Amino acid sequence: MSKATRNSGPDELELILRLTAKLPVGDSVVVGAGDDCAVIDAGVPGLWQLHKTDAVVKGIHFTSDSDPRQVGHKALGRAMSDIAAMAGTPRWATVTLGLPDGFDAQRIESVYDGMAALAQRHEVSLVGGETVANPDRLFIGVSLVGEVERDKCILRSGAAVGDGVWVTGELGGSIAGHHLAFTPRLAEARWLAARFKPSAMIDLSDGLAGDLGHLLNKASAGAELLESALPIRREARLRARESEAAKPPLLAALTDGEDYELCFTLGQGQAVDLLDRFKQEFPDTPLSCVGKIVRQPGLKIRQKTGLMEIPTRGHVHFQ
Ligand SMILES: [Mg+2]
Repeated sequence: MSKATRNSGPDELELILRLTAKLPVGDSVVVGAGDDCAVIDAGVPGLWQLHKTDAVVKGIHFTSDSDPRQVGHKALGRAMSDIAAMAGTPRWATVTLGLPDGFDAQRIESVYDGMAALAQRHEVSLVGGETVANPDRLFIGVSLVGEVERDKCILRSGAAVGDGVWVTGELGGSIAGHHLAFTPRLAEARWLAARFKPSAMIDLSDGLAGDLGHLLNKASAGAELLESALPIRREARLRARESEAAKPPLLAALTDGEDYELCFTLGQGQAVDLLDRFKQEFPDTPLSCVGKIVRQPGLKIRQKTGLMEIPTRGHVHFQ
């Protein structure tokens, strides 16, 4: 994977806004476009359905050097991470394969093996799909349906001024390997929803700055983060040490993306209880309170030298 990055910036965001402004939406739609998953009332008492579609594309999300099993793991894992963001349980998936000219059948089978292994671990059924010719490059699209108890579903909206901002795991430097081998935080999310019910939640796919920005927009609020509290991945620090061209670790943690961790907000009064009980339940998953929601819009980072303003738009994807 090259070090080059592509700024998906305002053009893509504006296109999404234009497209989603005129979607037909019926009465069964609880939450349409604009959250991690669509939330559907399919008439099952006590439950909502969660719908998510996602794709990984060679040259953007993996390269010809990537382990094909990990490519399959990533293709399904990304969609699972979005189901986790709403505290749901993934259930059924369908797959669309875009096959390039002269594809390597064995490699594609390994992609499926990786997907199947992750599906099995989470009791997800792979229930079919579609293959299409895509002469230029391989892509794998996954549509995933999940379920969530109605009173446990957590949306991007709901963060309140004064809430703490929390993240699981570590941030930045994902390109060193984590982006292909992450564990979707499904168990952690469901546990959080059942025990603490965060006020808002999102998964970190585009970097904390951009993804937390979505929570802030929905809340018409801002956030102040503490640089010293950010769980920066070792690889992000190493990359910065090894190459002057690499991003500084703080920027990597905020904007690299592909962390596939949870970011959620929760009333400050519950902080000590949460830390204590989470560590007992998930001793291998780091959990950090990285800041708080504030009234003044925008994202600011408190450093030793003072407050720095960070843009929340224009996140960066790997290429
Ligand atoms: Mg998401």
